[in-house]
Amino acid sequence: MKIAVLGDPVNSLQASRAAAGMLAPFCECDKADRFFKFCRESLNKFSQFLEELVSVSGVPVHFSREGSLMPFSNYRETWEERKQFFACEDIPHEIWSVDKVRQKAPYLSEDCGEVMWVGEGQVNNRQMHDALMKASKNLGNRVLEANVSGFILKGSVITAAVADSRQIHGGQFVLASGSWSPQLARVLGVSIPLKPIKGQMCRVQLDDHFMDYTLHGKMTYIAPWREGNGFVIGSTMEDRGFDPSIEEGVIDLLIAKAAEILPHLKTAPLIESWTGLRPAAEDLMPIMGESQRYDNLFYSSGHYRNGILLTPNQADYISALIRDTGVDAIPEFSPSRYNL
Ligand SMILES: Cc1cc2nc3c(=O)[nH]c(=O)nc-3n(C[C@H](O)[C@H](O)[C@H](O)COP(=O)(O)OP(=O)(O)OC[C@H]3O[C@@H](n4cnc5c(N)ncnc54)[C@H](O)[C@@H]3O)c2cc1C
Repeated sequence: MKIAVLGDPVNSLQASRAAAGMLAPFCECDKADRFFKFCRESLNKFSQFLEELVSVSGVPVHFSREGSLMPFSNYRETWEERKQFFACEDIPHEIWSVDKVRQKAPYLSEDCGEVMWVGEGQVNNRQMHDALMKASKNLGNRVLEANVSGFILKGSVITAAVADSRQIHGGQFVLASGSWSPQLARVLGVSIPLKPIKGQMCRVQLDDHFMDYTLHGKMTYIAPWREGNGFVIGSTMEDRGFDPSIEEGVIDLLIAKAAEILPHLKTAPLIESWTGLRPAAEDLMPIMGESQRYDNLFYSSGHYRNGILLTPNQADYISALIRDTGVDAIPEFSPSRYNL
């Protein structure tokens, strides 16, 4: 199979480089639906996926399975439900008493109370993105750094994508342009109910081995990027279209909220702040699968808050659909729910 990857890989608002890299199906989901199952499968694939990726690309990618911490103070209202959910679904977790928290995570604010440790993961998503670009090239895929502006059609078959007045012919096409998916679909006369949800984030300098875990708060999370890369603090959820602005006041507030659970953050030097756009479908489920309207079009979009976590599983799923290996289509994610 020959593959061409089209698009602007350094779009400053793209989500894949803006994310925190949490691999957190357990802290993110609170019911065992199909989405949860898909996220969980993806987490289980991560270690082997990265092993292959690093070996093909030669680009190191920081990955950790140290897990996440959820302090009681931030989950007060849903604490018992969470415990029940974790027990029912056999999710690896431990409840640390206040004394245990003082031993295992003495840097946490005393106001946190007891803490739930959850067995999930963390990846440096920028390194993973660099590795994916390099691996694609090493495998002989064409990486054409140009945006698609049109398609050549023959009835309900797409014969080529048009980018910078070049035609790129292909047998199968995957529309995977994140928050910009509706614009691209419009060129095909298709209307995707999806919009960008803006997230402002920042990264601060704190000693590498300060904390191994990802920390989840009510309105905030703190994720270690290790190797001298500091800690990422996120993130806002803003329905403001393609607004690229970064607001100093918002970043200060994020840090202040995070410092309520991790007081050292009050004095940690700010390294950078940025904005990214999460592609959110109307029902907040991914849009993955075969088009109903075009014979050789697939969608892989709408990954919203968990697109980094979903990387290996969505790749397996879409490639199985394209190769027609007999994989069962997942109705909850199907483009047909929006008549796409
Ligand atoms: C602030 C923030 C924090 C997040 N944190 C996490 C996290 O901790 N864990 C997690 O799992 N997920 C997280 N996410 C979600 C995750 O980042 C996204 O779900 C995922 O990156 C979406 O990937 P994508 O490739 O669909 O979109 P994008 O990464 O946005 O990529 C879309 C690409 O399409 C290109 N494009 C646009 N128009 C065209 C065109 N006409 N032709 C060709 N190409 C085009 C763009 O240039 C861009 O490169 C976060 C997202 C944000 C914004």
